[in-house]
Formats: sequence, structure tokens, C-alpha cells
Amino acid sequence: WPPDLLADNGALLLARLREHFEGLHDLPVRSPSTPADVRALLRREPPAEPQDFAAILADTFADVVPHLVQWNHPGFHAYIPNSSSGPGILAETLAAALNPNAMLWHTSPAASALEETVLGWIAGLAGYPQDADGVLLSGASTATFTALAAARDALPGLDIRRRGLTGRTDVPTLRVHTSDQAHSSVDKAAIALGVGLDNVVRLPADAAYRLDPAVLDAALRADREAGLLPMAVVATLGTTATGAVDPVGDLAGVCARHGVWLHVDAAYGGLWRVADAVRAALPDAAAADSIVVNPHKVLFTPMHASALYCRRPGALAGAFRLVPEILRTDDDGAPTDYMNRSLELGRSFKALKLWWIIRSFGTRGIGERLGHQARLAATLRERVAAEPGWELTATSPLPVVCLRHRPSDAGPHTLDALNARILRRVNAGGEVFLSHAVLRDGYTLRVAFGNIHTREQDADRVWDVLRAAAE
Ligand code: PLP
Repeated sequence: WPPDLLADNGALLLARLREHFEGLHDLPVRSPSTPADVRALLRREPPAEPQDFAAILADTFADVVPHLVQWNHPGFHAYIPNSSSGPGILAETLAAALNPNAMLWHTSPAASALEETVLGWIAGLAGYPQDADGVLLSGASTATFTALAAARDALPGLDIRRRGLTGRTDVPTLRVHTSDQAHSSVDKAAIALGVGLDNVVRLPADAAYRLDPAVLDAALRADREAGLLPMAVVATLGTTATGAVDPVGDLAGVCARHGVWLHVDAAYGGLWRVADAVRAALPDAAAADSIVVNPHKVLFTPMHASALYCRRPGALAGAFRLVPEILRTDDDGAPTDYMNRSLELGRSFKALKLWWIIRSFGTRGIGERLGHQARLAATLRERVAAEPGWELTATSPLPVVCLRHRPSDAGPHTLDALNARILRRVNAGGEVFLSHAVLRDGYTLRVAFGNIHTREQDADRVWDVLRAAAE
């Protein structure tokens, strides 16, 4: 496309986006179409001849957009909401337009310099040392894999990076300890790193779904006595199911005594520190060896943007630095050669959207928006607690509300089935979209706040819709 066509088509898209956001409230959060319906709409042969952009755009809004789940919809409260925001949307467009590859300082100096800047800002927001080695990655799963790879390669005397694991009799069984509430990305990392699922020790969490330091201490001691080698502990600051927050400071003390790497999965909870009302309830994670926080879950940032930090200087590069001849430069080894801090070589310009978002809202503006979401969650909790026939099933300093309908005449089996039916009915209505978890006492509904588009009246609607479905 010549520049004038790009500009004309861009204007068409922006006009369409304006309509989309103005009408978002009236769209179903999730359309009821079946997989067969959606496939039938979209299974097409590639056109041999060029097609007009206006037609492509019209088609996209007719046949694709209605059959996405509208993650920006004010009634979206499932999983961990990750809504996008104006500056993020526009920054993604500019990043795609310029298309720099942020693998080396040499291949895009300002992309690397900006990554350094925003990594420092975000570390500050998360309460982690701003001079820690950091890297922007596509998600927390990749980040946890990267951190655990660094932990594995930092094990003294084993030289796993060079010698690998196979065919060796001198490497004890490696173990990763975490809680039974930890995210499945810990298991995936163990699969990929040759640790194996059986060596992920999922310790039973306490009554509030937190990893108990004394239980961890005993498990690490037992492993050592059995000749096993604890390689890392993964604590969670904001579990996916209930938003539970592990006592990271105390766990760091246990890990330090045992000489084991502590990685903190703060993908969900870490950036809620920006909200004054939430900060006091969150532990200090500065002592962790590594931590991941996800702007794409909390900072109104379009996917993908996850920030991994490691306070052991050079440990990420120790695991991942590998420079083929074709990528050697005069400033080879500069700390800003971000391809050396993870598996990813070609890297998109993720720093730009974070720079634009933080500048556009300011840290105070982000804190106020997150604080508003936390208040919406607190109000829902109060309503649930005060309503006969309803109960809270977990507590959290983070704005994920776990609740269920519990009529006085329902037994435990009917309770699970009843709440599953409520969820189906709520989601079929199209106004609100929720998800569930299974906790110790069974099936629970989850209402997660954090979507930048959710206003007070939208939050009120969630409670009305839930009660109507239950009735
Ligand atoms: N950790 C926690 C606590 C999560 O809730 C999630 C996803 O919801 C992840 C990790 C994985 O994040 P990502 O999708 O960025 O890989």
C-alpha cells in the first residue's frame, strides 16, 4: 500500500473502532454461536485477486468480531480480565508499522533503551529493585520457564547448560516446590526443563489457599535428606483461582536458609501495588531471586506484555546468552541485547505500548483506576456476605470475588451442579461473562474486576444478573 492508501484505510479502521467502542455495551460479551457456525462463516479459499480493504474490514466486523469474546466488554469478569486501552491500541499500531526487531541494541537502539526505561518503571511499580536484570516477554508462562531455566543453570557444579541432563549419573533428581494453587505454567516449565511433572511438589496450601512457610521448610528438608535436589520454589502473589497471596517475605527466608532459588509468580497480583488501597495488603517481594508481573493482565495493555526480573546479576544471560556469528556486533554482549535474556530471539517492540500507557495515565491515574476496580470488588463482597442464600468462598486482597449460591435446602452435590447451571445461564445471557474454579469445598463462581471499561453500574448489573439466574 502506498502511504496515502495506508492513511485512508487507517482512517476507515479508526472510524470503525470508534463505532465498536461506542456500541460495545450492547454487544453480547460472548456470542452463543456454535463451533460449526463460526467455522462455516470463516472457512474460505484464499482469493487469487486482491480484495478491497473496505470489503475486508466490513467482513471482519460482520463475521469475525461478533464471534470473538469481547474481552473489553464492561461485563467481562472471567479468568483474569485483560482489557486494552487507547494508548496501548495506538502504540501497537505504531510498533507494527515501524516493525523494529528488538533483539540486539544494534538492531534497534531506541527499542532497547526504551525497554530498559519501562522495565525500570515497572519494577518500581512492583516493588522490585529497579536495577535488576529484566526482560519483556510474551507472557508469564514464558517468564516462569525462563526464570526456572536460570535457576537450573545456576545450580553449582552441574554445568547443565553445557552438559545437559541426559546420560548423567552425577545429577540428583531436580525438584520444584510450589503450592497446590500455583499456575499450570510451573508444570509446563518443569516438562520443558527436563525436571518432569512428578518432580513438581505441589504442597497443600493453608485454609486461605496460601503456601505455608513451615510446610515448605519441612518439604525442602525432607528432599535433601532423601538425596533429591530442590532447584527452585515458586510462590504466587495472586493465585489464578482465588487471588491468594503467598507470604513471600517468609518464604524468601526459608529459601535463603536452604539455598534455593525463589521465583515469584506475581503475574496477576504484582502490579496491584499501584493501587493505594491494595498495596498495604501485599507482601514485599524484593527478596525473591526472580519475579514476573504481567502488564497485559493489570496495566490495560494489549497482549503480549509480561515483565521478568532477576536480581542475580547476569543469571538470565548465564542461561540464555548465545550469539551466532551473524548477530555479532561491535557492542556484543551489551546488557541491552535482550535476546540474550530468554529463548526469544526476534522480539517485538513491546516497550512502546508500556511507555505510552504509563505516560498517558500517569502512575497516579493507573492507581486510581485500579483502586476503583478494587472498590467494585469490595462492594460485591459486602453484598454477597449480606445476602441470604449466598456466600463468599474465599478471600483475597485482590479484586477477584469467589462466591456461590447456597440455598438452605441444597446438599453438597446439588450445590456444585446448581452453581454450574447458574454460570451457564449467566454466560448465555450475553450481558456478563464469568468463569469458575473448583476449591476445597467444591465449585465456585468467580467475578474478577480489573477491566478498565467496567463502571459502577456495570458492577451492579453483575450482582443483579447473578441473583436473577439463581432464581
Ligand atoms: N500465573 C498466574 C497466576 C496466572 O493467573 C496466569 C494466567 O492467568 C499465568 C501465570 C499465565 O500467564 P500468561 O497467560 O501470561 O502466560
